[in-house]
Amino acid sequence: MSESLPTLAIVGRPNVGKSTLFNRLVGRRRAIVGDEPGITRDRLYGTAEWSGRQIRVVDTGGIIPEDKELIPSEIFRQAKVALEEASAIVMVVDSRTELAAPDMELSRLLLKMGKPLFLAVNKVDNVELEAAAENFRRLGIKNLVPISAEHGNGVAELLEEVLKVIPDGGSTETETDELPEVSEEEESADSAQTRMSAPTSETKVAIIGRPNVGKSTLLNQLTGTTRSIVSPIPGTTRDAVDEVVERDGHKYRFIDTAGIRRKGKTDLMAEKLSVVMARKHMEAADVSILVIDASEGVTGLDANIAGYAHESGRSVIIVVNKWDTVVAQAHKMREQAGTPEAERMERKSRSKMRVAMKSADQGEYERRVRENLKFLDYAPVIFTSAIKGQKIDKIFETIERVAKERRKRISTSEMNRFIEHVDFERASVPISKRVRILYMTQTNVAPPTFVLFTDKDVKLHFAYERFLENQIRKAFGFEGTPIWIKVRPRHKKR
Ligand code: GDP
Ligand code: GDP
Repeated sequence: MSESLPTLAIVGRPNVGKSTLFNRLVGRRRAIVGDEPGITRDRLYGTAEWSGRQIRVVDTGGIIPEDKELIPSEIFRQAKVALEEASAIVMVVDSRTELAAPDMELSRLLLKMGKPLFLAVNKVDNVELEAAAENFRRLGIKNLVPISAEHGNGVAELLEEVLKVIPDGGSTETETDELPEVSEEEESADSAQTRMSAPTSETKVAIIGRPNVGKSTLLNQLTGTTRSIVSPIPGTTRDAVDEVVERDGHKYRFIDTAGIRRKGKTDLMAEKLSVVMARKHMEAADVSILVIDASEGVTGLDANIAGYAHESGRSVIIVVNKWDTVVAQAHKMREQAGTPEAERMERKSRSKMRVAMKSADQGEYERRVRENLKFLDYAPVIFTSAIKGQKIDKIFETIERVAKERRKRISTSEMNRFIEHVDFERASVPISKRVRILYMTQTNVAPPTFVLFTDKDVKLHFAYERFLENQIRKAFGFEGTPIWIKVRPRHKKR
């Protein structure tokens, strides 16, 4: 899973070549999530591959305000969220500019983090410029690599240096090795009953979404209007504060509520921060609430954030907020039917989403949302108006339900009875790609993880996996949570 990959963060002042370097490192390959439109727009995270190893790369550019007067501590503060999770950091400078006080300040702050730090002196397009790179030694960063991000010179060397110091994560091999081999005896000893794991004492909730969709408003409703104990408690990082709400005997911890209320200074910064925050908040959560603005429909950035939610293995609830605006709009259109204003709106209503909005039909609207976020087909959708405090009870009930589902465990014997009854002939998979499932077992919860033991050592065909997942959901539910399926060829008995 990409989540377990070590991360390399790229930092530096505007225009030094961070995004050029990022593109060099991650190439033009598409994100893992699929072919949903807009998902690769303005990429912040990507995966770099080098001699069989993979690392995640994050470009902190854009999180940093493009402000000339800017003090580096501000650059640092904004980029910090992305830096905290990094295994190594590359500071980029422009060899064609004079070394200035802000660079010194930034390197000082970065050195203090105590993480492996590299200095990429960029725009060294020819050998004559290499001498200039030496001037940057004054920044005190030992690992200095002259590069030309644009032409690719030195980038491989930089990556090699980085790979030497960061942990070798993300190899699927090691992941598979940790899985238990289930013996026939264990299988029969396994209780036939589907057990629920002991409920954890609290459910951790992340509220995610792009700027202005109503995350803070919803948070206020969830933590404020209930008759509950709300206690701010320090979160995992120094400036993060969680709020805990108790309701019907259950505790809900809203992750980093200060972060949810924080706004970026510019639109671009706010957008990028929303992606960084979503990833960060999900890390600490069981359930994420993905908030979408009903008046705008699913945008590219929504799909981007949704993709990270899906990959993270956290449960997802889609909240379509500001439904009041859609209702008001539809009402207005009905009143004005036949007028020039209506004609104008009619012309604007060409997209399918607009058609759904026009009728304020939740069923139709939900279909459109699902069409745009196909990979989240397991996520419940709730329509709400946070500003009016609507559906707050329903949201809590849904959190409770999906939190339970993600911890559900199916016994191996039950799983095997299920496998016997699945008609795999119905999965449209080419004969050559078919495998025989010998047996199947759930090895983990949160998210539910299944291991298939098969007769052949082949990667499961996409359609086959999809089919199997649908059948599992039909039989056992697992609402709101992704399901992970791993395949292991059965070792031949001697
Ligand atoms: P960022 O703001 O740090 O992300 O910088 P960009 O990646 O957008 O690059 C800023 C400018 O520097 C762009 O015009 C790039 O084409 C240019 N640039 C980036 N790398 C190089 C390089 O290696 N050599 C030269 N000559 N220009 C570069
Ligand atoms: P955030 O950036 O996602 O935290 O969004 P905010 O909670 O700050 O909300 C952005 C704007 O949308 C504010 O002006 C809110 O008053 C408004 N807003 C939030 N929820 C609703 C809603 O349900 N209906 C309407 N009409 N406006 C809303």
